Amino acid sequence: MNLKKHLEELVPELICLRRDFHQYPELGFKEFQTQEKIIAYLNNTGIETRKIAKTGVKAILSGEKQGRTILLRSDMDALPVQEETGLKFQSLHKGVMHACGHDGHMAMLLVAAKLLANLKESIAGKIIFAFQPNEEDAGAYKMIEEDILKNPDVDSAFGCHLWSQLKTGTIDICDGPVMAASHYFTLNITGRGGHAGFAHESIDPIFVSSHIIQAVQAIQTRQINALHPVVVMFTSIHGGTNTTTIPGKVILQGSIRFLVDKGCDVLKQFERTVKNICHLHNANYDLEFKIGNHMLSNDPSMARLVRRAASDILKDKQKVTSDFRTMAGEDFSEFANRVPSAYAFVGARNNSKQTSYPHHHPKFDIDEDALVLGTKLYVKTALAFLKEVI
Ligand SMILES: [Zn+2]
Ligand SMILES: [Zn+2]
Repeated sequence: MNLKKHLEELVPELICLRRDFHQYPELGFKEFQTQEKIIAYLNNTGIETRKIAKTGVKAILSGEKQGRTILLRSDMDALPVQEETGLKFQSLHKGVMHACGHDGHMAMLLVAAKLLANLKESIAGKIIFAFQPNEEDAGAYKMIEEDILKNPDVDSAFGCHLWSQLKTGTIDICDGPVMAASHYFTLNITGRGGHAGFAHESIDPIFVSSHIIQAVQAIQTRQINALHPVVVMFTSIHGGTNTTTIPGKVILQGSIRFLVDKGCDVLKQFERTVKNICHLHNANYDLEFKIGNHMLSNDPSMARLVRRAASDILKDKQKVTSDFRTMAGEDFSEFANRVPSAYAFVGARNNSKQTSYPHHHPKFDIDEDALVLGTKLYVKTALAFLKEVI
């Protein structure tokens, strides 16, 4: 059966899968039911599967001819959000919601797997379907640790995200840096507590903290090129208990994000500023960084291949853009740092269907018309990659 016709037939199934995942969302590394559904669906299509990374799935489709191997990835996890969409297939799990579109990704990749399995005889090479748990908290690394990129060795990886900031009917794919690295920090400033009426006898950590919060904002323009995107955000500050006592300590937390190679220098510049301001005021500090995501950077030749597939799907080059980058993080970077990879955004915004809420919002929803485009993008990218002359 030809691919287009087969997909048309599978559209009701595609929507049904997405709605079922939506109705029964599960948090990161707790996607047990989701994992079982994925395995059952793939086994029904004759694709071998195995569990990986606790709640993930690795499936391998071997074409009947020799060739390279491409990995197609979908994330699986939902968020700790109480849904407010009022959809008839609204979440039945209290306080848990697919508010990022991963329900759609799983449905798209499952239907793509079924379509590709049907073409097995003509496929030269292998396709790995990677259903990854806990994207929202860097679950990809666990798959890497459990050798998702080996047996068989993966040559390239592709992933995509349904995106509510881009209109349905558009696909965006950039060369190079596309989603930011994120590093989280906890900074303790220790001074000496005392009475607010004779503050000169104390070392005021609130005053020191306020200097630091202001001063580190200069890193973006005064210490690095302003054309290199960097964000330093404080998202939590705690210290003190009343109106007359200077506290002994303030705890600050936040994140540093960057979308530029060698961006890790920003962490050193941040610490240098903290150290010098503390020295100026005779305070002490303790600073800890935790990595959230590495920067996600697209391999230009893979991005070109995806762009061609997207043009073919949308039949209009104008609708394939290369200008969407975001300071949000994405752990697909774990794959992209190891094999040449590409990550695309599939527009899912349709104002008439109320699908323009931001990701992670309690009213977030996707335009289901975008599911067909995402499915095609998985299929066409895999076929184009495996057809390319090595
Ligand atoms: Zn998300
Ligand atoms: Zn997401």
